Amino acid sequence: MNLVIKMKLSFRGLTGEVVTPGDQKYEEARQEWNRAVQKFPVAIVYCNSVTDIQNAVRWARCNHIGIRIRSGGHHYQGYSVGNGILVVDVGSRKQIEIDPENGTVSMQSGIKNRDVYNYLGARGYPFPGGTCPTVGVAGYTLGGGWGYSGRYLGLGCDSLSALEMVDYQGKLLRSDRSRNSDLLWACRGAGGGNFGIVTSMTFQLPSKVAQVTLVELEYSDASPSTMACFLDLWQKWLVGLDPGITINASLYNSAQDGMGIYGKGLFYGSAAEAARILKPFEQNGATIGLEEMTFREAMQKIQDAYPDSEKFQSTGRFVNRNYSLKEIKTIVGLIRQRAEGSVYTAVSVYALGGKIAEVGPRDTAFYYRNSAYIMGIQSVWEDDRYASVNRCWLYERFQYLRRITAGSYVNFPYNCLANYEEEYYGGNVCRLRQIAGKYDPLNVFSFPQAIR
Ligand SMILES: Cc1cc2nc3c(=O)[nH]c(=O)nc-3n(C[C@H](O)[C@H](O)[C@H](O)COP(=O)(O)OP(=O)(O)OC[C@H]3O[C@@H](n4cnc5c(N)ncnc54)[C@H](O)[C@@H]3O)c2cc1C
Repeated sequence: MNLVIKMKLSFRGLTGEVVTPGDQKYEEARQEWNRAVQKFPVAIVYCNSVTDIQNAVRWARCNHIGIRIRSGGHHYQGYSVGNGILVVDVGSRKQIEIDPENGTVSMQSGIKNRDVYNYLGARGYPFPGGTCPTVGVAGYTLGGGWGYSGRYLGLGCDSLSALEMVDYQGKLLRSDRSRNSDLLWACRGAGGGNFGIVTSMTFQLPSKVAQVTLVELEYSDASPSTMACFLDLWQKWLVGLDPGITINASLYNSAQDGMGIYGKGLFYGSAAEAARILKPFEQNGATIGLEEMTFREAMQKIQDAYPDSEKFQSTGRFVNRNYSLKEIKTIVGLIRQRAEGSVYTAVSVYALGGKIAEVGPRDTAFYYRNSAYIMGIQSVWEDDRYASVNRCWLYERFQYLRRITAGSYVNFPYNCLANYEEEYYGGNVCRLRQIAGKYDPLNVFSFPQAIR
């Protein structure tokens, strides 16, 4: 029998566009945003409807082939793809609609940050989405979702009020506060890839805002002592901080730009008020940029800075206490020497608190509500020859960060975590395991760091 016909027959029952090895599109279709991930699935099925998704689950089970779920393909470790598995890609499903009566917005699970900002921003609404335009709102929200509106509007998952999911049997489930409410709880911080394939999500709409202030903070040519002063100031500055402001900052060592500090964020208020809030950094030598604009314009500017892809290794840890100057110097020292072949390395900090801390650690699956900020370390390279030396570089430095921090953020996942369930979900692990057993008893939805 002709090989092509044989292949097509073997995919009978799979609907949507199917891309397999040998197809022209395969090389591109198997890629993730992190190009350091190179995996070879048996097929990628692009699902345009819920029926396509249901058929994909049934087909994979009939053929004893593992499933990976993909919306935006931005998983740091590439767990939305794999070798010898079926990628169920829902990325083309992007419908979005406001329900004015209920004050909600519903969207299909292939939608990206940029689509939501454009749709809601044009109607005057902000949204607690992420920073990168092409991150899938599904993956982002299911892992918690830290963004520049976090301290003002909460995490992405805090606004999630309902979802629909295709389960291990291919059945469509609805989950909200009255039906399958345990599943909604679990999907607010631990839902990525674990329980089933989310097909749509409903969020509470925030109040409209006319203008926000886009914040930029910069120290070029920052010496290690400037960086240490910044981190010390940062940890003190966060205490009692106005919830209207959310920023992150990177202490970087770049092959192109040398050592520096660069931060960005949003303030839900005027530039004059933001200037007052950021005064301590200005007095400490930072250049502060403040510009009032619409929420949509601000997100557009933030998103323009992202490249289309990178090769990187990165982590993110929760910080629960203040550091001594000695500890701060050690943190700064982590990036003094880049790994061989690294073009950029950074220690980055992301402010928590505000509205994020108003929710209890057990109210959603996102456990680390009381942390002051997230701190991560990353290395970026271009030439594949340097991949392993960069990964080792990060692993060595991670050992120190792990000792002084409390747990890992599942949206900034790291494949070298020994007890990843505890690290990601803290005191919520037992409940999450029960829910995984209830909604996916056969462990159909599995990946290297799945809830078991
Ligand atoms: C450049 C960049 C910038 C980022 N910025 C931020 C940020 O500002 N804030 C933040 O919190 N995170 C950020 N992240 C991390 C990002 O939020 C997570 O990687 C997120 O999981 C990506 O979602 P995705 O749909 O794009 O990725 P995918 O790789 O498609 O999916 C990520 C995970 O979610 C699962 N998943 C995806 N879709 C579904 C679905 N429909 N149903 C069930 N499970 C699903 C996948 O199986 C996988 O385990 C960033 C990542 C990158 C690469």
